[in-house]
This record gives sequence, structure tokens and C-alpha cells, in this order.
Amino acid sequence: MCATGGSGLSTLKYGTSKENVRSMLVVTPQGELIRTRAKTRKSSTGYELNALYLGAEGTLGLIVEITVRIVPLPKLRCGAVVRFPSVGQAAQTTSDVVAMNLSTLLRCELMNDEGIKVTNTVFKTTLPCAPTLFLEFVGNRKEEMLSDWDSFRARAVANGAESHTFAEDGAQLDALWDARRGCYLGAMRYRGLESGTNSKEKVYVGDVCVPASKLSECIAITEREFKKARFPCVICAHIADGNFHCLIPFQESERAALLALEDKVIGHAIALGGSASGEHGVGIGKQKYLILEHGGAHIDVQRRIKRALDPLNIMNPGKIISWDPSDAERIGPQRPELARL
Ligand SMILES: Cc1cc2nc3c(=O)[nH]c(=O)nc-3n(C[C@H](O)[C@H](O)[C@H](O)COP(=O)(O)OP(=O)(O)OC[C@H]3O[C@@H](n4cnc5c(N)ncnc54)[C@H](O)[C@@H]3O)c2cc1C
Repeated sequence: MCATGGSGLSTLKYGTSKENVRSMLVVTPQGELIRTRAKTRKSSTGYELNALYLGAEGTLGLIVEITVRIVPLPKLRCGAVVRFPSVGQAAQTTSDVVAMNLSTLLRCELMNDEGIKVTNTVFKTTLPCAPTLFLEFVGNRKEEMLSDWDSFRARAVANGAESHTFAEDGAQLDALWDARRGCYLGAMRYRGLESGTNSKEKVYVGDVCVPASKLSECIAITEREFKKARFPCVICAHIADGNFHCLIPFQESERAALLALEDKVIGHAIALGGSASGEHGVGIGKQKYLILEHGGAHIDVQRRIKRALDPLNIMNPGKIISWDPSDAERIGPQRPELARL
């Protein structure tokens, strides 16, 4: 999680790993052990090395110890699912509610209607096929959580929510959330069940992130591209973060079509001011989008950091930043179709 700068379903309340790691011990490529920063809340003594190593995917050093912020476990949980006529209305509600800064709202996740359909097919549930927000509230005082839920529901109704189901305790809540937790497995089994072969498929997981104000536009474009490419479009979104996963079941014979679709989805997200990856990282597969997202000069700064800190290129070579600038230059101009988006 530290090496990929990862995050998850509770980011809305607690932040990503980048916000929760206070200090780290890192072994440099030269074999020295360094502490990235003091363990204090504030420190203003030079470059922020914590930020440099978090999300570096092991390309600059090996993390061997972390110091994290801890928070007390809340005693109570409750939550709801809320259904909307459109993803746009769900996204608008989410951005309204994020601005209200509800202190007990832990999670706010979206599944699109096709995602719900897949869940119904695979898990034999009978959920209404509509864009659905999944919510969880946590705290130590029930009144506070219910008051936050009332505020949420009022915004949702004002934005045209069609219906909701409320779960007043943890057990009911877990049952409500099963659909969201099962979406990866659902995508894996969906087409096999539909076709009667019962086979499981590989699942590609996309991970774009866009500014909250662009989320509904980006999801609408993405759904359209999927329809054109004839892949089922299962979207599970960390919607409060503007980050969404497209789960695409595919066969090896469809790999070229899948990669073409990935180019389009990521290209649109970047054109809307977004990022190719919100939490999964770059590795090898997303290198080709880096210049499109950041520009050549930015990537050159990243390459110079890599070359300065790891001159022998021994730390996870070939990941994130290409060693040779001509590799990066080759990637950019050869992808004019993305530059036009
Ligand atoms: C189905 C699926 C769902 C996912 N969902 C989420 C999600 O909700 N949120 C999220 O954040 N991510 C998610 N991911 C991605 C996930 O963050 C990464 O796969 C995860 O961080 C990998 O952890 P790992 O321990 O397996 O690391 P590895 O795969 O072993 O390593 C990940 C990277 O970190 C580097 N690394 C490993 N250890 C160290 C170290 N000690 N020091 C420096 N670098 C190191 C490796 O070189 C590699 O580049 C998901 C992935 C999949 C396949």
C-alpha cells in the first residue's frame, strides 16, 4: 500500500496511505538506511522524502518500516443504499455531501446499473437495476450518525433519488454491502453464466481518477465507449474521491479490443483533467499514459530523480519511468489519437 500509494473504501474519512504514513525507514540503492522525516505531525526541515517514496513502487528504495497515524475504532455502524435515475444525480449528491463534511460518513461508493445487473445475475439478488450509492456511517453516538444520514437523504431526495434502504446496524449493513464487495467476482463469472458455459474469465480493472466535477461526464463517456466496444460495463467507484474502476471480463482473443478501449477510457479521463491511476499505480502497463497526463518536462524531472537516486538502475528497473529519455519520447508522438482527445 505504501509503495503504490494505495487507498480504499474508507479514504473519504481517513485519507489515503499517503496521508496516514507519518514516517518511514527506507534502504537506499546504496545500502544506506534513512528515515524519511521526523515522526512529528509537523516538520519543515527540507524536502518531503515521505511523499517521494510513497507511491514510488520500489523504484527509489526499499521501505522496511513505517510509522502510521492511528485512530480509535468507532463503536457503532449504520448505512444505506440510495438509488438514482442517473449516475449524474448520484455524483451530484456525492459532491454536495462531501462539501458538507459529514463527520460520521465513512464510505460512499457507487455501482452503475450494469454493475447491479451483473450482481443480480451472479449472486441471484433482486436489487433494482439503477445507479446506486452505498453508504456507511460510523461513530460512537447514534444521534450523530442518524443526523448525518438525514442530511444525506435530504440532498439525495433534492437531487432526484428514487428510493433507499436503510440498515440500522452492522449485520444489516454488511448484507446491503454484499453487492459492492462482490463486483470483481461478479465480473469474473458474468458472461459465463449469461452464455451458459459457466466459465470464469480474466478481469481487467481500470482505475482512472477525475476531478469530482467531471465524474458524471467521465462515467457517461466511459459507458458509451463500452457499449460501442460491446464489453459489459461494470463500474465500481470510490465516487467521493472521483476514482472509478471499470471491471472488464475478457478472453485472450479480445485483448487487442480491450487495450483499445483502455486507451479511450484513460484518454478521456486525462482530457477531463484526470489521472490514469487513482490508486493502483503505473508499473509497466500505464507507462504509456504518463506523458499524456503530465507532459514531457514533468516526466523528465521524474526521470532525473530516478537517475540521481538510483544511478545503477537496480531498484525495480523498468517500472514507472523509462530509463532512457528516448523511450519516453517514442511513446508520446506515436499516440496522436490520444493527444487529440
Ligand atoms: C482486484 C484488485 C483490487 C484492488 N483494489 C485496490 C484498492 O481498493 N485500493 C488500492 O489501493 N489498491 C488496490 N489494488 C492494487 C493494490 O494496491 C496493489 O495490488 C497492492 O498494493 C499490491 O500489494 P502487494 O503487497 O501485493 O504488493 P506487490 O504487488 O508485491 O508490490 C506492489 C509494488 O510495490 C513495490 N514494493 C513491494 N514491497 C515494497 C517495499 N517493501 N518497499 C518498496 N517497494 C515495494 C513492488 O516493487 C511493486 O512495484 C487492487 C488490485 C487488484 C488486483
